[in-house]
Amino acid sequence: MRKISIFGATGSIGQNTIDLIDRDAAAYDVVALTGGANIEKLAHDAVRLQAEVAVTAYEDRLDDLRAALAGSGVEAAAGQTALTEAAARPADWVMSAIVGAAGLEPGLEALKQGSTLALANKETLVCAGALVLETAKANGARLLPVDSEHSAVFQALVGEDMNAVERIIITASGGAFRDWPLCDLARATVEQASSHPNWNMGQRITIDSASMFNKALELIETKEFFGVAPDQIEVLVHPESIVHAMVGFADGGVMAHMGAPDMRHAIGYALHWPDRRGLPVDRLNLAKLGQLRFNEPDEARYPALRLARNVMKRGGLSGAVFNAAKERALDRFIAREIGFLQMADIVESVLDRFEAADGLIDAPLTLDNVLQTDHLARTWVDDAVIQRAG
Ligand code: NDP
Repeated sequence: MRKISIFGATGSIGQNTIDLIDRDAAAYDVVALTGGANIEKLAHDAVRLQAEVAVTAYEDRLDDLRAALAGSGVEAAAGQTALTEAAARPADWVMSAIVGAAGLEPGLEALKQGSTLALANKETLVCAGALVLETAKANGARLLPVDSEHSAVFQALVGEDMNAVERIIITASGGAFRDWPLCDLARATVEQASSHPNWNMGQRITIDSASMFNKALELIETKEFFGVAPDQIEVLVHPESIVHAMVGFADGGVMAHMGAPDMRHAIGYALHWPDRRGLPVDRLNLAKLGQLRFNEPDEARYPALRLARNVMKRGGLSGAVFNAAKERALDRFIAREIGFLQMADIVESVLDRFEAADGLIDAPLTLDNVLQTDHLARTWVDDAVIQRAG
């Protein structure tokens, strides 16, 4: 039996992972399931799958979790340290599907144990790419991509020589506001930004799709994961979300990966890799679709892409700053304290402040530095919000 853990089990990726596990439950021995506020769902799945331990990220929810697990034999734990401890339990395969930078430490810990880490949490590579890759290498651990674009690139590269790769093209649906007039974006509401035309995902990534901050993070993730130069990575808006990514080779050939927009494809590929097994996803009917459209993203509409390109050039801790500032600005947008377009303005101002700050830009990429920089960037967003309000 394969020992597996799922971090972020109560979320959209976590539940899709459980859906696949459920179809072949006898093959898996579940070690840890983790969640945040949704104690009921976490306990329900932990008992049903007979996990060793269930962990909530929130210490003040430990009693609720204990009560929900009473008599089941599943251990209860809570808090950030407990999450990292759960990642230290031996597991063959670990799904990293916590949302945000909170996924970094458990992911690093799983790599230290030599586990295979299925990486949905793109923030891990955005915040600490080189550190994560070194940790995997030093411990003989493997990273497998779960973001659909990165899974698509990974699949297109099977058997290929990286020296023959000219460019990687990742696609973007364009999100909720793809067809909105630019002048209306300043008034876009949280509810409007939380509805994705093609994918069914958690709220935060759905809003990040509307602003293209999600694609911006994916640009950085692509650079880190595949070790290509920033100018080898392109973004194309592809409203149908059927082609997830393409790889262009030295001979002019382009390999495209296509599939229905269903995350169980990328999750299943990482779960069964290096095999390909049957998956319960819709089959493509291209004749019925009729057309696939592609166009270049308008950077006036999506300033996050320009910011990500600067972050890729700067390297070091700037990924951690970018991600933390984006997360905090998103919190503030969801709390209705700032407008949709202010998110990018504020993130840019935080990146400028980072660049101007003494010694930060050249600081080494250690976990401590990433965590401190993450904290600092969040306080700088709060400063910027206060300044704008005043
Ligand atoms: P969701 O918001 O649906 O789920 C997030 C999970 O993380 C939940 O289990 C949540 O718990 C838990 N969580 C929230 N805050 C914390 C915290 N501070 N510490 C520990 N756990 C926490 O997110 P998604 O499943 O949509 O996304 C997860 C990751 O996968 C993200 O990094 C996203 O960018 C990436 N991704 C997602 C895709 C998708 O289709 N959804 C596609 C590709 C990548 P609870 O709900 O109980 O509070």
